[in-house]
Amino acid sequence: MKLGKKVLDDFLTPQLNELHEKGLYNIIDTVEGPNGPKVQINGKTVINMSSNNYLGLADNDRLKKKAMEAINRYGVGAGAVRTINGTLPIHNELEKRIAALKHTEAAIAFQSGFNCNMGAISAVMTKKDAIISDELNHASIIDGCRLSGANILRVKHQDMDDLRRVTKEATESGPYEKVMYITDGVFSMDGDVAKLPEIVEIAEEYGLITYVDDAHGSGVMGEGAGTVKHFGLSDRIDFQIGTLSKAIGVVGGYVAGTQKLIDWLKVRARPFLFSTSMPPGDAAACIEAIDIMMESTEKVEKLWENGNYLKEGLKNLGFDIGHSETPITPCMIGDETLTQKFSRRLMEEGVYAKSITFPTVPKGTGRIRNMPTAAHTKEMLDEVLAVYEKVGKELNII
Ligand code: PMP
Repeated sequence: MKLGKKVLDDFLTPQLNELHEKGLYNIIDTVEGPNGPKVQINGKTVINMSSNNYLGLADNDRLKKKAMEAINRYGVGAGAVRTINGTLPIHNELEKRIAALKHTEAAIAFQSGFNCNMGAISAVMTKKDAIISDELNHASIIDGCRLSGANILRVKHQDMDDLRRVTKEATESGPYEKVMYITDGVFSMDGDVAKLPEIVEIAEEYGLITYVDDAHGSGVMGEGAGTVKHFGLSDRIDFQIGTLSKAIGVVGGYVAGTQKLIDWLKVRARPFLFSTSMPPGDAAACIEAIDIMMESTEKVEKLWENGNYLKEGLKNLGFDIGHSETPITPCMIGDETLTQKFSRRLMEEGVYAKSITFPTVPKGTGRIRNMPTAAHTKEMLDEVLAVYEKVGKELNII
């Protein structure tokens, strides 16, 4: 009889060896300090162009103060799942704030955006249903769809003709009880924005449930309130999903929607029911972040100003920056090996910008993804541009 230990080893060893031999094993960088516009990695201070900390709130003093007060008052852990005795006043307060930010009747908070997609989709969709999903949707959406058991109908990225065709087929001749359309609000690899006005039109014509994961749009689009608000569609999208880990700067995820939808998720979304609630310090910090966003749009404006400045600068240098409509600034390189080399050289020159290659993006579309934030100064961005110019010329990209 084979030992389980040996079976596991036979599974792991050849695959890990292959990844290491091909240089494909992802080495995880350790950031030695707070996540800000500059970070320290391996003892070296570099300009950070790789975080999702859009508004620079991850290290904000107001958030830290509120987190510490909450820890002193409630402790470091909530002690149980929300439905047993893990609901604190700050969890309820956070949900109220999210609903206010999103202009919805109610909201439910999860421990992460990933968790949220796993819980929310499967609480509503079943194997009798179909989910139409943009082919570039985030991994957590894909996994949430799979978990629900619904039939997944992939549509071409942002192709409204394809969406209409698949929707018509699914709703008019499909055997489904319900059909949902799911999309990212902002696509994180290219920075393009979901065509929500057209999507809503199709959805209303055919009776689709609509689900927008605005992880990269919240705090960025719609003066911070998100992509749905940007298009003035707050009462016409059924599920507004977001994360508390990017612009909000902390951790967690949420669904904003009608009171009825939230009431249902609170009794059916499994990560809400079966996983310990968000730590008190995190919940308090999230509330403060939303307050900061609702008090003023200053940080959001700075984020866009920085994004536009960087885009313009890279374009003027001759780089292909794709078709981003948000501060996310890809720098398209193409070849995977060259992309990785480019990123490595940037790092040596003091700019931390990660390469994104297959399988995260299609083969031959390797890119460096730059994530400017509200916390970057113009001097930092000028330094980034100077390094791009140097490395771009050295590698014959410009
Ligand atoms: N949805 C989308 C579209 C995302 O980009 C991400 C984060 N990469 C998530 C969900 C997951 O969010 P979190 O990091 O809060 O788990």
